Amino acid sequence: MKVTGTMINYFFHCHRQCWLFSNKFNMEDNSENVRIGKILHEIEERKARKGEVSIESVKVDKITEQFLVEFKKSDADVNAAKWQLLYYLKVLKSKGINRRGKLMFAEKNKQTHKVIVYDLSVELEKELESVLQQIEVCVTKDVPELPLKDKKCKKCAYFDYCYI
Ligand code: SF4
Repeated sequence: MKVTGTMINYFFHCHRQCWLFSNKFNMEDNSENVRIGKILHEIEERKARKGEVSIESVKVDKITEQFLVEFKKSDADVNAAKWQLLYYLKVLKSKGINRRGKLMFAEKNKQTHKVIVYDLSVELEKELESVLQQIEVCVTKDVPELPLKDKKCKKCAYFDYCYI
């Protein structure tokens, strides 16, 4: 199975979510939270359209001379966004395009963004390889892991599936 940026994001958020998404248990459309995220993402995409680019299955929000830029609706899971971004940097690098990564998180009730910059170091690239292998193992299991019972579940698109 080809690992995608979304799968990486979900893997860091919750292994069960990654498994459910990868095995086509798609409940994303039922979540208001996800719908809001998509709308915000579309607005940012429109603003950034000049720089938008698709590479294989990867859709990148914006590429400048220095940065690959990803817009996020919140900074609730920075680590998941970070690894998704590093994966995109790696895909770009494999095409001979080297960039720094920039995450821009929309700040609540403001027009501004919180910005974090990452570089795909040799160490992080090795870690990423290991992450990709772990995801392969996770999503090819016959059944997903048990629900997390974590407070983040309340905002997850799979809440109904996991708890009701
Ligand atoms: S509701 Fe919780 S356990 Fe279920 S997929 Fe979402 S984060 Fe994971």
